[in-house]
Amino acid sequence: MINRIFMNEMSWTSYQKRIEGGALILLPTGATEQHGPHLPMGTDAMLATAVAADVAKKLDAIVAPVLSFGYKSQPKMGGGNHFCGTTSLDADTLAHVLRDVIKEFARHGARKLVLINGHYENMMFTIEGVDLAMRELAYRGIQDFQVMRLEYWDFTKRETLEKIFPGGFPGFDLEHAAVMETSLMLHHHPHLVDMSALPDDGPASFPPYDIYPTRTGWVPCSGVLSPAQGCSAEKGKLLADDYATGVTGAIRKEFPNVKERS
Ligand SMILES: [Zn+2]
Repeated sequence: MINRIFMNEMSWTSYQKRIEGGALILLPTGATEQHGPHLPMGTDAMLATAVAADVAKKLDAIVAPVLSFGYKSQPKMGGGNHFCGTTSLDADTLAHVLRDVIKEFARHGARKLVLINGHYENMMFTIEGVDLAMRELAYRGIQDFQVMRLEYWDFTKRETLEKIFPGGFPGFDLEHAAVMETSLMLHHHPHLVDMSALPDDGPASFPPYDIYPTRTGWVPCSGVLSPAQGCSAEKGKLLADDYATGVTGAIRKEFPNVKERS
């Protein structure tokens, strides 16, 4: 039997066998959000999926369909919801979609799930979705369901950051559609990056407060928060290797019963 990685490429019978055998579920969460003129709007969803797929090449794990809509883009980390194409969910919608699918994984027998978030703004609402699901599962007597939740960029090694940003790291929040995401896309999906459209505005500088309605003028017109110049597929591979080994290592540590991929 071919040991497939993606849930939506599996038949229900092979999915059932894998779950009964103790396979782990990897659930990527992303967004549909502008990423400057040079990257696709599905960048966060694609990168979270790529991290999950790399992990599933090492462990007995199934990559669930990515959640491609995320919480509303914020000016200071994603450019803001005012950009055409940035298509977002309300907080409770996102939390409830996650609650529902997590309960479904558990209902079919999965007992371990790793939620891999690729869109900063989703963070607290993925926590809410996990919490709501765990509470309901406990009411139903399912006490042995466990979830690991993470933002993949937290697995970036200090040495990698020093190699990629010899002049100093601007910070993960300003890295929207900049060197890290563009390099990762050059590594995982090079045909989707338009290097001829790389903007040269930014870096953005924001005051230490928010104003509503959003001051769209605070955000560089391109939607990029820091310049992406200096990006490369080689840098993307360094980052991707950190995420594959870091996330896999964390899973082996916390869920020692998960098998290696056969
Ligand atoms: Zn992004």
